[in-house]
Amino acid sequence: METKKFLEILDILSQNIQDDTPSSILKNSFKRTPYTILMATLLSLRTKDENTARVVSKLFIIANTPQSMLQIPIEELQEIVKPTGMYRKKAQILQDVSQVLIDRFDSQVPSNKKDLLSIKNIGEKTANIVLNNAFNIPIIAVDTHVHRIPNLLGFIDTQNEKDTQKELSKKIPKEYWSIVNFNIVSFGQTICKTRNPLCNICPISNFCRKNPFTN
Ligand code: SF4
Repeated sequence: METKKFLEILDILSQNIQDDTPSSILKNSFKRTPYTILMATLLSLRTKDENTARVVSKLFIIANTPQSMLQIPIEELQEIVKPTGMYRKKAQILQDVSQVLIDRFDSQVPSNKKDLLSIKNIGEKTANIVLNNAFNIPIIAVDTHVHRIPNLLGFIDTQNEKDTQKELSKKIPKEYWSIVNFNIVSFGQTICKTRNPLCNICPISNFCRKNPFTN
C-alpha cells in the first residue's frame, strides 16, 4: 500500500473517532500535565484503557505531583491502582519513578528521550507516548494496535514494534506522526478489534485486504 492511501485512511479514521472510545475516555479522565501523563502511561501497561481511566480519575485527585504520590502509604496506593492489574509492582513503580523525578529532575518530567530512558521502569514505548502527549514532540508511539493494523493493511511488513516504529516513521510524513497513535488505537479498540473485528461497519473496509465482505 502506498503512503498516499494510508494517509487517506488516517483521515477517514480521524473523522470516525467516537467520544466514547476507551482511549478518548482515558484522555478525558484526568487533568493532563507531563507528570499525570507519565503516571497514567505507566499504569496503562498491560491493561485496558477503561481500567486505567477508572483508576486515574480517583488517583490524581489525591496525588498529581511526585511529592503527593510519595505521601500515599504503599498499601493504600496498591489498593487504588488494583483495577489496572499487577498492582503491587505498579504502585512501587509510581513511587520509584516519582522519587527519581524529585532527586534528579527537580520534580519535573524530562522532555527528552535520553533522560526519560535513564529512569528505571521507563521504556521506549512509555517515553514515546510521554514525549508525544505531554510535550507535543512529533513521534509515532507504537503499541499492539499500531503494530498490528498497518501490517494487516499491507502498509508495512514488520515482525516487532520496534521495527514498526522505524518503518512508520520512514513512510509517514512528520506532520502526521502525532495523530497516528490516537487514531489507530481508537480504531483498534472499537472496530478493528484483535479477535472480532467489526468488518461490517468498518469505515476503511474498501482498503482492507482482510475484509471478508469484499474477498
Ligand atoms: S475490514 Fe475488518 S479487518 Fe479490515 S481494517 Fe476493517 S475491521 Fe479491520
